[in-house]
Amino acid sequence: MGAAMKGVLIIADGLGGRPTDTPEGKTCLQAARTPNLDELARRGAVGLLDPIGPGVRPGSDTAHLSIFGYDPYREYPGRGVFEAVGVGLEVHGGDLCFRTNFATVDEGFVVLDRRAGRIHRGQEELEQALQALKPKSAPEVEVFFKASTEHRGALVLKGPDLSPAITEADPHRVGRRVLDVTPTEDTPQARRAAQIVNEIIRQSYELLKDLSINRERQAQGLPPANLLLPRGASTVPRLETLPERYGVQGVVIAAGALYIGVGVLAGLEFKRAEGATGGVDSNVLSKAKLAAAELSDGKDFAFVHMKGADSAGHDHNAAAKISFIEKVDEAFGYLLEHLDWNETHLAFTGDHCTPIVYGDHTSEPVPVGFVGPNVLRDDAREFSEKSAQQGGLGRFSSNIVPMLAGYNNWLRKFGT
Ligand code: ZN
Ligand code: ZN
Repeated sequence: MGAAMKGVLIIADGLGGRPTDTPEGKTCLQAARTPNLDELARRGAVGLLDPIGPGVRPGSDTAHLSIFGYDPYREYPGRGVFEAVGVGLEVHGGDLCFRTNFATVDEGFVVLDRRAGRIHRGQEELEQALQALKPKSAPEVEVFFKASTEHRGALVLKGPDLSPAITEADPHRVGRRVLDVTPTEDTPQARRAAQIVNEIIRQSYELLKDLSINRERQAQGLPPANLLLPRGASTVPRLETLPERYGVQGVVIAAGALYIGVGVLAGLEFKRAEGATGGVDSNVLSKAKLAAAELSDGKDFAFVHMKGADSAGHDHNAAAKISFIEKVDEAFGYLLEHLDWNETHLAFTGDHCTPIVYGDHTSEPVPVGFVGPNVLRDDAREFSEKSAQQGGLGRFSSNIVPMLAGYNNWLRKFGT
């Protein structure tokens, strides 16, 4: 058995790219200067990861579930619940969870801006006003709302007999009227949920439209945040947590609500890193430092999520993606220096590719590297899509956390 080992999972969101990322025909990862990730490749083994499976274009949520060893086809409940948990709302079985946008609509509920101009100040006042949400048609249902970053937030409805089988209110296009939410299955639970959500959307307009923040925004020519648009209805999944599966205690270090939510639902404790923003300006070094401190404080596992490469990919910004990857490399260098490599296994990968020209997630595999005392070294000299094609790990789907658990001797035997 040997001494207890520790595991680290680092996900650089949207890490992978395409040769069309740069004029020289290199991916952003190839173009970036990454001495520390190259050192990982030399000390460990690399390969290609299909986050969900070959030919599947992953969402960040489903890819993360798969990387954690869950089956996204069976266990993905919809995005709302991850956002709700990630912003710190308490959820239990049966609660109906949504991610939300603050949006701008006219008096006829025609959407003028789906993100209320990416509002970045005054969300506290909006959040405060929405504490009065209360469906009159179902007074026993309790409503909880919390704002997160910019226009984003989460909504939780607590009450009996609420089904997530309802349509979306968000027309996903400017100039269209907010859609009536309707049940997608013929059950009283779905009909009831649809009716309550419609009522809450109307109520949000009454509560938000005359707030001082919105009068100020209109005076400045900015779109008012006068409607709450819920989407991604989901209930709370019962995932087998990492403490249940492996008997280990761990932390999630992330800024985006979705990633915090995945970690918390997997049984990890959320730790806030100083300067972590979830954007390209995030202080990823502080995340690495916090992970190292938590592990030396006795935690068995740390999941660190870094978002910027994905955001830069969505923005078609190769320079920003390259410089964010270089920041990730620097943070990784801190871990190379400060972790106890006699007792730690680390996996570094992305949850999908976000190439520059396409500007969204694609289905190609992403490079992955494992390092630690039980990892058999391969011949890789650098960490990139190209070296990963020849890597000792080959090409495989999902299950990064179970593989880490394997190196760490945490797994129960399947059979006898
Ligand atoms: Zn992602
Ligand atoms: Zn993305």
